[in-house]
Amino acid sequence: MFDKILIANRGEIALRVVRACREMGIKSVAVHSTADADAMHVRMADEAICIGPPPSGQSYLSFPAIISACEITGAQAIHPGYGFLSENAAFVQAVEDHGLTFIGPTAEHIRIMGDKITAKETAKNLGIPVVPGSEGGVATLADARRVGAEIGYPVIIKATAGGGGRGMKVAKNDKDIETAFSTARSEAKAAFGNDEVYIEKYLTTPRHIEIQVFGDGRGKAVHLGERDCSLQRRHQKVFEEAPGPCITPEERARIGQVCAEAVAKINYIGAGTIEFLYENGEFYFIEMNTRLQVEHPVTEGIFGVDLVREQIRVASGMDMSFTQDDLQINGHAIEVRINAEKLPNFTPCPGKITQYHAPGGLGVRMDSALYDGYKIPPYYDSLIGKLIVHGRDRDEAIARLRRALAELIVDGVDTTIPLFHQLVNDPDVQSGNYNIHWLEKWLERTFAKA
Ligand code: ADP
Repeated sequence: MFDKILIANRGEIALRVVRACREMGIKSVAVHSTADADAMHVRMADEAICIGPPPSGQSYLSFPAIISACEITGAQAIHPGYGFLSENAAFVQAVEDHGLTFIGPTAEHIRIMGDKITAKETAKNLGIPVVPGSEGGVATLADARRVGAEIGYPVIIKATAGGGGRGMKVAKNDKDIETAFSTARSEAKAAFGNDEVYIEKYLTTPRHIEIQVFGDGRGKAVHLGERDCSLQRRHQKVFEEAPGPCITPEERARIGQVCAEAVAKINYIGAGTIEFLYENGEFYFIEMNTRLQVEHPVTEGIFGVDLVREQIRVASGMDMSFTQDDLQINGHAIEVRINAEKLPNFTPCPGKITQYHAPGGLGVRMDSALYDGYKIPPYYDSLIGKLIVHGRDRDEAIARLRRALAELIVDGVDTTIPLFHQLVNDPDVQSGNYNIHWLEKWLERTFAKA
């Protein structure tokens, strides 16, 4: 087992990893930009080291800064959290070239899954059901038209290098496709430096269901059921829950087994998430994330396992601490993402926190790096906390969420908390009756009225 781990991240996820290290008796090293000198992850880690100026390109994304920080502090392994370098195959390679361990999958698996076309092909070959669409990339408008006619409209044009919901355009018919195709390509070029796109059947009322998988890198793998992340704004998740309100135990066992077998077959190591759209009882693969997800705590809630601890174990060469049979679902968990953003347009709202009070009590978990007087810097993501609740069933989890939200105080900046006060009281949310478009429509209705 490692003696010391460096955490190449910031905010709540860096703190999350510090916590796992501490429980395992492992020393943790925080890295930070000059803008984060007063951050909570810096205070909570055993050691901290400044790696550069505020722009993440010169700090949290800088290979030399992070690798030198390991050398200076004697850390043997790097936990990347999510975002930043977590899915950067070249970084994994650099880490290994320096004799350090990357806590996550291999560079090769990251590369395969980071390119959406290769990912989809690989998934298909491993027996995972995929969305009907083009075979590989689509280079010309004529090809796009041909694919559209073949699979039938509406279609969605997606960036091969895509991520974060960017570079996607829907075409309702043969006339739409010209603009959709060219905008998707130019957006992809601008966002990812790569204008390759592919085409998929656009599913009109799906839910977003993702399967958590975990492998030991030596041919053993398990699944930890699904999360339903259908409540999205601009393809970004805002409310996640496990288990999925519409998934039966039989469906879970079936798709879970397909996913676990697939990752076992490729000797996948660590945590991964296979994302699907789910419509009329069918699962359609959209992508695989080769890292810990923001919403991993809901899975931890219902299975009672620490996924970060497990990542560290397998990275150090140990076995997983559980088998598929050990993993039994207990109750229901919900996470809401608290962002420093101003409604109704979700404009980022950095600034000073004048008062912070975290909710507590049975079944409540608050993952946040906030504290009284903390100044949220303007340079990074606006996620400032995740409120996670667990109950014996979904109704209890919702009641607990409502109660916990009432206790939560974040003053000084605008946040998305008021959104959740309203959502918990919505009949569709209470009954679990929503798909990936529900929230956008709800936002239009709610803010048009206001
Ligand atoms: P990203 O990597 O940018 O997050 P994904 O492929 O994971 O992109 O898709 C993100 C979201 O976009 C999905 O959760 C869903 O809301 C929507 N989406 C993607 N593909 C389709 C599709 N074929 N039909 C309908 N919606 C889609």
